[in-house]
Amino acid sequence: MSHGKFRKGGKTMSLRSDELARSPFTPGALPPIMCPVCSFVGHWEGSDCPDVPCPNCGATGEIRQVFPDGSAYKLLKMLTYFHKVAIDRTSESENRLIAGLAERLGRACAKKEAHRALEEVHRIYSVRRRRGQEYDRAAAAMQKLLSIDSDAEAREVVVLLLAHHETVEEHAAVVILTCTLLEKLLDDLLVLMAGTRDAQDYRTARQTVKSLGRFDDRKKLFKKISRISLAAAVERCPAERFWSTWCGLRKTRNHFVHGQPFAISVSTAEHAFRLATNSVPVFAFLQNLTCLSKQTDG
Ligand SMILES: [Zn+2]
Repeated sequence: MSHGKFRKGGKTMSLRSDELARSPFTPGALPPIMCPVCSFVGHWEGSDCPDVPCPNCGATGEIRQVFPDGSAYKLLKMLTYFHKVAIDRTSESENRLIAGLAERLGRACAKKEAHRALEEVHRIYSVRRRRGQEYDRAAAAMQKLLSIDSDAEAREVVVLLLAHHETVEEHAAVVILTCTLLEKLLDDLLVLMAGTRDAQDYRTARQTVKSLGRFDDRKKLFKKISRISLAAAVERCPAERFWSTWCGLRKTRNHFVHGQPFAISVSTAEHAFRLATNSVPVFAFLQNLTCLSKQTDG
């Protein structure tokens, strides 16, 4: 395969310090750089300078690329934004709930107390009962838990608690964008693998990956080219539990998309955000594991 030919299809990005400073995951540090000759990704002194040799293949004079590409960084910025908004909106909604409870109880309500009341109401409503029984049970439970005198007041508190949503739309946005980012990084990796290991030119490699339907087909192609399963390769990365969390996240995203609008919880979004923040080093590791052209030469 001609690396020169393959390279023409790839995107190059110039490194601008103001862009790097705005990058959400590299505060004060450069993003990884990729050598366009051997596909090595890493940080090395003067890595953005074409005159400094690549530590893997020794090539000089080539414009180095930022890894991953601009679209990946855009997705990272988007999901960082939604993650922050999710936290802000959740805390606003929690404050509104606590204020509402305090008003009805006629006294201050601690955050811990509000959480216990919420958990109890959700627990009662999570069991299928005869119509109306949940409401009666929840009102009785609230009367006891929050020391409320009248049944009518306890029922008002139950309504208030049921109207409170722990998640906001931005939690789902973080999960969906993280899945999109990981799938995009995997597809880019497979294209590069098909190019460097399977001797396909860029257009054919892109077409091969584009024609894959399910995630399982991507796993099969990964194994066919690298002779190691995607799960085993990811498990060799320093990021802890990345593979199992990714699999769980994909399932939850699919449940959400296919008719379960409450499938995504606050903790799902937190797991997703952690995956997103680790995605660049993990995929840099995978690329160095599977794509270095020096490996095939040796
Ligand atoms: Zn190189």
